Amino acid sequence: MQPRKVTPPLHALPPQAALDALRGSPGGLTEHEAARRLAEHGANQLPEPPARPPLQRLMRQFKNVLIYVLIGSAAVTAALQHWVDTGVILAVVLINGVIGFVQEGRAEDAMAAIRRMLAPRALVLRDGRRKSLDVAELVPGDIVIVEAGGLVPADLRLIEAHRLRVEEAVLTGESVPVGKGIAAVPAESALGDRSSMLFSGTMVAAGTGIGVVAATGSTTQIGQISGLLSRVETVATPLLTQMDRFARWLTLVILVVAAALLVYGSLVRQMPFSDLFMAVVGLSVAAIPEGLPAVLTITLAVGVRAMARRNAIVRHLPAIETLGSVSVICSDKTGTLTQNTMMANRIVGAGQVFTVEGLGYAPEGRIRAEGPEALPGGPALLAEVARVSALCNDALLHPGPTGWQVEGDPMEGALMALAGRITGDGPAPCGTWQRIDTIPFDAAHRYMAVLHHGPEGEAVIHVKGAPEAILTLCRDQRRADGGTAPLDIGHWHETVERLAGDGQRVIALALRAVTAGRRRLSTEDLAGKLTLIGLIGIIDPPRPEAFAAVAECQSAGIRVKMITGDHAATARAIGRAIGLRNVERVLSGAEIEAQDDAALARSVLATDIFARTAPAHKLRLVSALQAHGLTVAMTGDGVNDAPALKRADAGIAMGLKGSEAAKQAAAVVLADDNFASIVAAVREGRTVYDNIKKVISWTLPTSTGEAMTVVVALFAGMALPITPVQILWVNLITAGTLGLALAFEPPEPGSMQRPPRPRDEPLLTGTLVWHIVLVSALFLVAVFGIYSHAIARGASVALAQTIAMNTMVLLEICHLFFIRNIYGTSLTLRAARGTPVIWVCIGIVTAAQLAITYVPALQQIFHTAPVPFRDGLLALAIGAVFLVLIETEKRIRLSLRRRRPGG
Ligand code: ADP
Ligand code: MG
Repeated sequence: MQPRKVTPPLHALPPQAALDALRGSPGGLTEHEAARRLAEHGANQLPEPPARPPLQRLMRQFKNVLIYVLIGSAAVTAALQHWVDTGVILAVVLINGVIGFVQEGRAEDAMAAIRRMLAPRALVLRDGRRKSLDVAELVPGDIVIVEAGGLVPADLRLIEAHRLRVEEAVLTGESVPVGKGIAAVPAESALGDRSSMLFSGTMVAAGTGIGVVAATGSTTQIGQISGLLSRVETVATPLLTQMDRFARWLTLVILVVAAALLVYGSLVRQMPFSDLFMAVVGLSVAAIPEGLPAVLTITLAVGVRAMARRNAIVRHLPAIETLGSVSVICSDKTGTLTQNTMMANRIVGAGQVFTVEGLGYAPEGRIRAEGPEALPGGPALLAEVARVSALCNDALLHPGPTGWQVEGDPMEGALMALAGRITGDGPAPCGTWQRIDTIPFDAAHRYMAVLHHGPEGEAVIHVKGAPEAILTLCRDQRRADGGTAPLDIGHWHETVERLAGDGQRVIALALRAVTAGRRRLSTEDLAGKLTLIGLIGIIDPPRPEAFAAVAECQSAGIRVKMITGDHAATARAIGRAIGLRNVERVLSGAEIEAQDDAALARSVLATDIFARTAPAHKLRLVSALQAHGLTVAMTGDGVNDAPALKRADAGIAMGLKGSEAAKQAAAVVLADDNFASIVAAVREGRTVYDNIKKVISWTLPTSTGEAMTVVVALFAGMALPITPVQILWVNLITAGTLGLALAFEPPEPGSMQRPPRPRDEPLLTGTLVWHIVLVSALFLVAVFGIYSHAIARGASVALAQTIAMNTMVLLEICHLFFIRNIYGTSLTLRAARGTPVIWVCIGIVTAAQLAITYVPALQQIFHTAPVPFRDGLLALAIGAVFLVLIETEKRIRLSLRRRRPGG
């Protein structure tokens, strides 16, 4: 646990000395050296919290009331020397435990796989090149680049910092971001005062920086207190907790009823104790929905996996439930609704327009002057365009197997390619200029500025950004002949509208020469002092799949709203292309600001496009939508989006371009940043919710039906139509199979043609209670009916009971087919075809029933008799009648509801 001791410690050394102490270099380690150090120091990760040993997990399955009751019952039956009963009861205990164990393991595996998908990455310099790495591969001495929204991947000694502020609450408890810089601090400084260090696990709140890795893995500060962090996420959601509580409560009620029956039977009816006791045990086991919590957990886990397959990675399980009830999706434009493959298409200077040719991000292509002839000032203007584009830029271009690739922001990639096309100098033109200071892009001010020293000793500020932002900073504009002219704001705004009207993203370029040797850049250096060079129109086509996804939302009663930092006209053109509804009225960030919460709540419904918004507006939009009772899904990528993501009912972060801060605030992370994946996740969310409902709607009536058979027989003083041991058997065979099959149900047809369910819809509705009453009554009639019929025809009690038991199982299977479609009829070819899981489960149940009915050894144990073919047919016929009855009831209920919406 001894931290690396360097005397004096790294935070007290000047940057260069710290770099030397760690045997690093400004260009980064070589891959070879990095590999050597990785072998020496180990991976940069904290040791996994120890997994619970399997035996302990298995034992945990036996810690529940039902199991205690069963074990008690086994003891009683053993004392009565009813060995068969004891054996069956113990088998039930054991099999229940094993099923729970396996199911829990699968759910945990699903969650572990999800956690692995979210492994963060770090930007490092290796062999002098920037490279994105899995955080685990970092080694001491690596040069790491951090920026706002990123997670600090290891303990770093800063060697460069620009307006860097870091949130260190995990380490120091201090929630206000602290400023960081490269200056050495006294050796004895407390952790919170070591401003020259960045600590693993903390979050960059603002600015950019470069640091050399000082410690990795468990030698980091966070690693030394990692005991605090070994938090195991359990599989639970509000719905699940609610059901768990319900199941426990139900268990208690059942046990009380069972005890009362025991007293009533032995005192009032004077029944023999051992028979009575077994009947009550059978009743309890049948009625207690012991498998329900486990099956619901599986249903959720299946949903998590289905969503992951559709590129939506669930971080917080409750989001699965919420996604299904989403009624508004607020989406980013760039990269989510559009492809984020940017291409510069136009250059507009004062009095001259150029069209750009070339493929993708290739830094070669032709620039064509528009109009009859090239103007004399063209080349000079283009040279300045190229310089601003290349220097005010953090993207890298490199050739890949499928053409040129961007590392960094695609829009900056497009500008870099443009600079290459103009200068013919390849992927990184203007290499002789040296960057001195930076104001990074921020979605709140919408520009980026850099200060460079040029090859002839000049110092120039280059700025690019949203035209409105840049125009307010400019004093004049570049003339075609290289001089300057007064800024013609009106003309430029018109040009912006025209370019944006085609759906192009417009970027303005500006610059300013300052006194040579200047080393600091601040916002005061920009205001009213820049010279506008021109505008660049950039094409970012809509994603082809977005149109269908938006249409799907609209048929599903989900509103889609676009919230973008881009220009209103650009947003409207894209909105129209993907089929948004209210595209005429665009609300701008400034207009949002001018409205109070009440006014915003009124206007938010009438508008589908919000343009030139800052992240703070997102938070207000979420609240305004929630004020209408809507369930809001909101996407985000930047640090500043975190509050809105937290506030939204389902916060969705971008996996590719999103910051770590956004991912940590979100409930869902999109692996492909694609809007269509959100819609797929909503569809899965609806399916999971429906399946949970189906599992419950199948289990409760079934277990009630089984239990009521015993209760009615006891009260009416009739012979039991099914023996208690047989009831145990049926419960054992069906609960783990048929109920579980519903966890794997695909979406019902038309699941995205219904309006979203209300957020607070209860699971245990009046309809469900009615369904329980109806189905258990039908079970009773069928079971008692066929039993009496068999007895009346002269069958032995054993045969009559066997027929009744098989009829019961058949009814449960029919009920399963019924439940598979809660919104439509199950009497269709598609519904009858079922799913592979359904047929496997039915296969298992059928085989088990055939065995208990026809295998002599089992006949001995369970007191069954072979059922003649005729009676088998009769049972099937009863099943069919049962299905027709409940389907008819469903049809009437659905048509009543359709006529009386909301009922
Ligand atoms: P979006 O909602 O399209 O993602 P952003 O908030 O990312 O919008 O950007 C808003 C505006 O800021 C863009 O329309 C563009 O004009 C400008 N902008 C975006 N990225 C940069 C950048 N890296 N440098 C300068 N300006 C930028
Ligand atoms: Mg953006």
